[in-house]
This record gives sequence, structure tokens and C-alpha cells, in this order.
Amino acid sequence: MCCREGFERGINPAADYPTEQEPWDALIERMTYLFSDEFLQSVHPFSGHLRATLQREGDLCGSVPASVVAVCDAKLSNLCKILNPKVEANPFLALSFVMRTAAQLSGSVVTTKGNLSIQKKNPYPSEIIELIDIQKSDSLQNTMVEAVHIPFSLDKTVQPVRLNILSDGYYLDAIAQKLGVTDANKVLLSRAIGKASSETRLHFAAPESAMLDVSADLVNLEGPLNVRASYFCGQSIYGDAIMASIGYTWRSKDLFHEDISLQSYYRMLISKMPSGNYKLSREAILAAELPSVFTTKSNWRGSFPREILCSFCRQHRLSEPVFSTINLPLKDQSSSRSHKEMSVTEGVEQETEYANGRGIATGDQESVESASMFRCKVKIFSKCQDLIIECSPEQIYKKSNDAIHNASLKVLSWLNEYFKDLSMPVEKLNYLADVLHIQFYPENFFKAFLLCSSVHSLQHRGKGRKLPEIRSVNVPHTSPDVCSLNIEGLDSGVCPSTESLLCISYSVSLVTEGKHVKQLLESNDEFEFEMGSGAVISPLESVLTQMSVGQSAFFSMNLPPCEYILASTDDSEGIISLLTSETCCLDYTVTLLCVTEPPEERMEQALFSPPLSKQRVEYAVQHIKQSCATTLVDFGCGSGSLLDSLLDYPTSLEKIVGVDISQKSLSRAAKILHSKLSTKSDTSIKSAVLYDGSITDFDFRLCGFDIGTCLEVIEHMEEDQACMFGDIALNYFRPKILIVSTPNYEYNVILQRSSLTNPEEDPDEKTESQSCRFRNHDHKFEWTREQFNKWATELANRHNYSVEFSGVGGSADAEPGFASQIAVFMRKILPQEDDVSENENSAQNCKVVWEWNSVDRSDSSL
Ligand code: SAH
Ligand code: MG
Repeated sequence: MCCREGFERGINPAADYPTEQEPWDALIERMTYLFSDEFLQSVHPFSGHLRATLQREGDLCGSVPASVVAVCDAKLSNLCKILNPKVEANPFLALSFVMRTAAQLSGSVVTTKGNLSIQKKNPYPSEIIELIDIQKSDSLQNTMVEAVHIPFSLDKTVQPVRLNILSDGYYLDAIAQKLGVTDANKVLLSRAIGKASSETRLHFAAPESAMLDVSADLVNLEGPLNVRASYFCGQSIYGDAIMASIGYTWRSKDLFHEDISLQSYYRMLISKMPSGNYKLSREAILAAELPSVFTTKSNWRGSFPREILCSFCRQHRLSEPVFSTINLPLKDQSSSRSHKEMSVTEGVEQETEYANGRGIATGDQESVESASMFRCKVKIFSKCQDLIIECSPEQIYKKSNDAIHNASLKVLSWLNEYFKDLSMPVEKLNYLADVLHIQFYPENFFKAFLLCSSVHSLQHRGKGRKLPEIRSVNVPHTSPDVCSLNIEGLDSGVCPSTESLLCISYSVSLVTEGKHVKQLLESNDEFEFEMGSGAVISPLESVLTQMSVGQSAFFSMNLPPCEYILASTDDSEGIISLLTSETCCLDYTVTLLCVTEPPEERMEQALFSPPLSKQRVEYAVQHIKQSCATTLVDFGCGSGSLLDSLLDYPTSLEKIVGVDISQKSLSRAAKILHSKLSTKSDTSIKSAVLYDGSITDFDFRLCGFDIGTCLEVIEHMEEDQACMFGDIALNYFRPKILIVSTPNYEYNVILQRSSLTNPEEDPDEKTESQSCRFRNHDHKFEWTREQFNKWATELANRHNYSVEFSGVGGSADAEPGFASQIAVFMRKILPQEDDVSENENSAQNCKVVWEWNSVDRSDSSL
């Protein structure tokens, strides 16, 4: 496909030069100036090279590599691009223009056949040379610069090299020496890589073919492709290469240089991965992971998804991502229709498109935003404007920035999956794309990421220890990657839940098999992140679900890809020798410092006394006592807060059961119930079971209970699912009593008025949480009293139940009613219905994850 490079920014530089002769004339003029006497004293990247080459010995004195001219003078290289637009993609093509221009200037410069260098014909006047000598006399010491050697063979590892730059020498001669060629005139320089002002380039020996015929339009470079080096600079590099950050700049006449250690090399490498910039921005390469959800700006730590995506595109030489936000005006703000409905009823009123999300969130726009909702679409193009990826999520957001970040995150998450397994079959890639509302164009996509698979999968692995898999008895779901987990310290009972903000301290060390050598790789005294969003590697998150504040955990893990380890340590040599000579694994130490509850829980604890959750438990206990219930099932039991609290009250309960779809919550519940049941001797409970399953699926083991509870659960499901649960519960499970609680949407104004916001939240966020529609970001809907009454009344009528309404927090008589509204369904006694309902259907859709029996006082995990 043809590359419309010139049109990329809407400017066509060729327009200034209507005929082909004109850019040639301009090129000759520019070259004449670059080799003029006056230019030598200017501060310019190229004049720096000129001055330094005057110190070269013999014939080489004043001889400048042609590659330097093409790389250092932007005006000249732009002219080359006009003569041949392919120069943009392959800057080495500029070499032939440079050499041909020089050949035409035979009066003032000399080129030697078979040599890619240019030299001024007549020496500079001695006055000028003397001036230069004076300027450099104060720096007589040699300079040592760290660089890395990147062999073209992927079997060989990248090695550190030290460039010894003589005070009276030319730095490119030092690089030439490391590349095994006679002098700088045989060295080619890549474009600068990395940040804007970077002097980091790849240097390699010009292949023989380049020397032969530079008069042709195309300089044919041949040789073994250096995949790693080419991947970094986005242009083809042949043979072994040296990556160094060194050169002359616009800032000073002195040589600029910066060390590139192996660590910096590996950091650059991982910054090219979709999750890399997130890990680097958090300084947590071994612990952080790109989160899979963006809930709020105030909960997000590290670079924002949009910035990460933009930087990813720049890194891979793609165009800036194009975001288009769609504004859906809200006509009736007080309504509590679900997002889904709204997206159907509201049309596309306004569509704004801009690159890189710039120019948004102005004061004016904010006021518009408060009355509307946003959806965002992202498109990723190659530099040639070929469409690569398109993502149009359905979700809508109160703020356009949130919509942009979420769409960006979806693209990043998908790319991240691809980078984790670059040999992934297209079908799987397609499947993941569908899930994330992504469309990708395989031909363009694979072209854009052609070199990734050779670079990211071939890092030398070292000897990793195969850790034995463990099965923990009390804890149903421990990641299989975690080994010899040991949690120390008293259980404070303050535990993280999804959406809590956690603060941990941790350290990660590389240890050898017998633990003889232990080397610290990464540590952090205060690392904050949002639980349940995948913001840390999943084994770490799974360990944290089992901890309470104040506890510390110790565990081992298999080695991650080597590039991560080398990017997190500055002792590359020591680590590499450990990795290659010994069997190693990583030891993690983590302490849970504090847990900040999600806004809903913070609010329930601070504004109600006793806290709303406690009031719900007391409400349930009252019904259990009245009804003399002996069996109870808690639908959507979460981390078991109700089951746990019930054990503190004397009741007639003998059997308690919890069902939830969250494995993490269930493992917490199992832990809590286990410790309580095994220490309480006076309990009436004979059996306790936790099931992993959806409460919208039938399972005969949930039938015929005395009492069922479903507290603050239905609003976490889509409305149709909530209705389905109601029908299944009353039609099939048929408990004698079913208690359902859910937030009262009308009460939210009171909660907002109290403006209980996190003091750390920025002012921008404050307006956000005040206009927050729902109490919790996971809520799919919140009903008004009328909506709840209608649902419950119709449901009860359909299934021969009576229903009564009540609530906790606030009061029934004062507006706007209870904070949590409750419906109590009571089964009407039907003559044909036995107490224990006989159900023919013996389907089992739930899985037992934990079970406890008082008979043998033992529990078991499956
Ligand atoms: N009842 C608990 C937890 C409420 S949070 C308490 O009052 O503390 C809501 C819970 O509903 C979460 O644990 C979530 O995992 C669970 N949930 C959501 N959809 C579900 C479904 N379809 N089946 C079972 N549990 C579900
Ligand atoms: Mg809730």
C-alpha cells in the first residue's frame, strides 16, 4: 500500500518545491553552507562532528561520515524526503542523495570512491582552527561511556560495552573500534530513538554493498538483519549494532553523553510492551500489571490509559491514536434507567473527533458534561494511515475523559494479551477482540508488529526452578503460581474487598535453590492500588485476598520472563551469572498496610450508626428468630459478612449455605467461617457450605430452605438477570421467607449532600462523586421505591407469595424513605405443597468450594 507520509499532518512539504530540480538546488546550497568556514563555529549537531573530526589523524583529519550529515541536519534530511518519500521509512536512502550532492560540489568537498565520507577540500583558515583549540583545551580527560552491544544473532545476548572516548579523538572512531571496523567512516547511524531530545542511536558497520554504488537512487543495504536493533529504531539495521546515547546537540559545543546500561536497555525493551509503560510509571516491574478496568480517576495509580496508549503508538512508530467521543445528552437526570436502556433511547447528538485527546475538559465543556453521558471510540492507524485497530465500547460514562481512558484501556488490554503470547492463533485473537469490542485488520496489524515475536520471545531464560504445586486446605483458590505461602501476624479482620484501595509494602528477591544467595530486585514501602482491577500480578492479588491489615505474606514464584528481571536490577552482570549458573525463583514478601473501603462502604460506615451492613444483619436475625428457621441460604453471600455475623447471635439455625460467583470473595468467606466455626463451641450450626455458582441458575441443593437472604446483590446484576433471579428463587427454590435488599435510589441525594468524599480526591473528582448516579461503580442499576415495589409485588403475585416492604437507614415515614430498601417475601401455604418441596429436577449448577460439619468438626476444600 502506498504511503501518504506527506499528508500525515495535513502539510505537504513538497509543495514548496514544484519542480524536481529545486530540491536538488536547495540540497547543494545547504551542503555548501554546512562545509563553510562560518558554520564550523556555530552550535549545531553537525558542526560538533566537524570540529571533532579535525582531531582525527592523517587522511582522516576533517573527514565526516556521510551518515552523520544525513542524520544531524534536519533541513538536509527533509530535502532528501522530498526527493524520495521512502527516506522517511528508510533513512539510509538519504545517503545516496548526500553522496551525489557532495560529488557535485567537487570544488569545495571531496569524496573518496568506496568510502561513505565527506571532507572539506581546502583546510579551514588557521585563525578559526586556533579558536577551536582554545575552546577544547579544558577537557583533557578521556571519557568512559556505557553502551550496549546488540548482536544480530538472536542466540547471543546483549552485552554491556564501555566506549573509551579520547579527549582528542572522535567518538565515532571509538564506536567503530567496538564494531570491529577501521574507523568512523564505515559506521552508519540510525535515527534517534526514545524521547524527543534523545541522542540514543544504533550504530552499525556499513555493509560492503553500501560502499559500491552510491550514485544509484537507492543505496542497497544488505546483510543479516539485526532484529532487536531494527525493532528499537523502526528502520532496518544489519549486522551487530551498538546502542549508545552520545552525540553533539543544539545545546552546547561539548559532546553530550549518557550511559546506557543493560538495565536501561531492558527498560526500553519492556516500555515497548503495552503493559510496560504502566509498570515503569509505577516503578513496579515485577509487581504491577496493567489493570483490566478503569473505575475512577481517583482510584487509578500510574500513567493514565490514554497516555500509555499514545506512548505505545509512538514507540511502535504508529500514528497518534484517534479518539472520537459521542455525547449522549441526558434528558431526565433523576431517572434511574439502566445504562443499557439509555444507550438505546438516546441518539447520537454530537460527535467530536481529535487525536491524542488534546483540547478537552475545558471549563465550558465541564458544564455540558454534567448533563450528558459519553461514549468513546478509538482508532489506531499506521504511519501510512492504514487502519490497524478500532475499538468502540458500548459503555457510557459521565465524563468524556473516563470514556477515553476506558476505550484506551480496552485496546491496551487486548494488545497486552497478544504480547503475552505472540504466537497466539488468529482465532483466539479474534475472540479476545470480540469480547473487548475491538475490530482489528490482521494484514495491517501483523505488518505493524512484525518484529515483536522475534524480539520479545527470545530473551534468554536462565534456569528457573519448577516449583511444586500446592493445594491449601483452608483456602479454596490460591493461584497455582504461588508456592510455599506463609501468612504471618494476627488476623485483624480488616480485609480487602473488590474496589478497596490497598496500600502494601513489598519486596521481591531472586533466590537460588538452597536459598544460599538472595538478591533484592525490587522493593516498595508504600504501593497503593485498587483491588480487583488486576493492577498487580494475579498471584499477588490472590494472596492479598487472604490477608488482613497488619499481616505479612511470604511466598515463592517461578521466574518471570528474563527481560523483567533485568529491567528491575542495576546489577545486571551479577544477576545474569546467577540466572545462568543456578536454579532460581523469586521470593515475595508483602505486608498489607491499610485498606480504604470503596465509597459505598465508607459511606455506610460513616453515616449510619450502627453501620448499614450491621443493620441489615440485625434485620435478618430478627426474622430468623421469629420464624424459628433452622436452615438459611444467603444468595450472593460475597465474603460472608452476613453468615459470619449471624454466628455472633444465638439463633435456631442448624444449616447455613452461601452462594456467590466471586471466587475471591468465597475464599475469604471460607477463611472467616472456618476460623469462627472451629473456635466456637456453643454454636447450634451443624453444617455450613459455600457454593460457587450463579444465583440465576437452578440447583436442587438450594431448594426448600426456611429462609433465604439476598442482601445488596440484585443491583450488581443486569436488570433482566435480577428479574430472572426473582423468578427462580420464588418458583423453584421456594424458601418460606426471602429477604431482598437493594439501595433506594431516592436516598442518594442525602448521601451526596453529606459530600463524604475522599479528601485526597482532586476537585475535579469531587464534582464527579457529587454527581455520581450510583453508590458503587459495580451497580448496574439502583431502583426508586416505586420501581422496587412494582418488581416485588408482581413477583410475589406470580409465585404465590405475599410481600411486605421495609428497610434500614432512614425511615419509612420521612422522605426519601430508607437508605436500603427491603422486601420480605412470605410463601403462602398451599394445600398441595409440602414443607420440603419435592423437586424432580436434580440439576447441580453450583460447585461446593468449602464445607464444614460439626459431627467431625472438620472442613474440607475441594
Ligand atoms: N451479600 C453480601 C455481598 C453483596 S456484594 C453483603 O451484603 O455483604 C454483591 C455480591 O453479589 C458480590 O459478591 C457478587 O459477586 C455477587 N453476585 C453478583 N451477581 C451474582 C450472581 N449472578 N450470582 C451469584 N452472586 C452474584
Ligand atoms: Mg451493592
